[in-house]
Amino acid sequence: LHARKPFISGNWKLNPQTKDEALALAKGIASSITENSPDVDVALFVPYVFIESTMSSVDGKLSVGACQVCPQLKGAYTGAISTSMLKSIGVEWALAGHSERREIYGETDDYINAQCLKIIDEGMSVMLCIGESLAEFEQDLAGSVCAVQLKKGLKGINREDLDRVAIAYEPVWAIGTGKVATPEIAQNVHAKCRAIIADMYDQEAADAIRILYGGSVTPESVDDLMSMPDIDGALVGGASLDASKFGRIINFKS
Ligand code: PEP
Repeated sequence: LHARKPFISGNWKLNPQTKDEALALAKGIASSITENSPDVDVALFVPYVFIESTMSSVDGKLSVGACQVCPQLKGAYTGAISTSMLKSIGVEWALAGHSERREIYGETDDYINAQCLKIIDEGMSVMLCIGESLAEFEQDLAGSVCAVQLKKGLKGINREDLDRVAIAYEPVWAIGTGKVATPEIAQNVHAKCRAIIADMYDQEAADAIRILYGGSVTPESVDDLMSMPDIDGALVGGASLDASKFGRIINFKS
């Protein structure tokens, strides 16, 4: 058994569509966290416009984070949201490097690194998402792709700030496809990522950092994934839009 506290997180993406829907979902999720739940951290990454109202609807039972941030603090960046804005409303967590941001919005490893540094500078915590494409997976490149994304994403982050970093391994071929990675495939990449952290920092840092798996996690797949030694949590898209499914994922059995 390892000492890392499990971390179950949801990514709402461009869902739900209205504030009423968002609050009903958030309340349903919060109510699934009871005194019988595992000792687990829970976070929801939600659209900016719903952050504050979602925060006030969950009785402090979970964190509400941002899906991305602008790496600049202020100035002529129309439409952008800064870490200082988020901090000022009490946001603790932000995602960086989600594959949809990389693919659809062209976010590069350098840009993602700048986001990570800004989030850490602000005193917030970052969940850095990494993962290989289907073609890379088929060429057995998962480990090396993740190594590059990890090294570039975390560049310049100090050892003493690593307790505010979590990693989400999200193979692109598993996101939104219904094709969850097997626990063995995920475990193998997680162990490689942990070895890279040991290489970049030290073994103690590697043993402490939480590495979550993401990609079509459901109530049916979560227990086996969470029983693997290097899988410390889940980042959940589709199933986080259903309070009973996500509630079951939070209450995983390992
Ligand atoms: C995600 O978007 O981070 C994700 C893992 O989505 P899904 O669970 O729907 O595959």
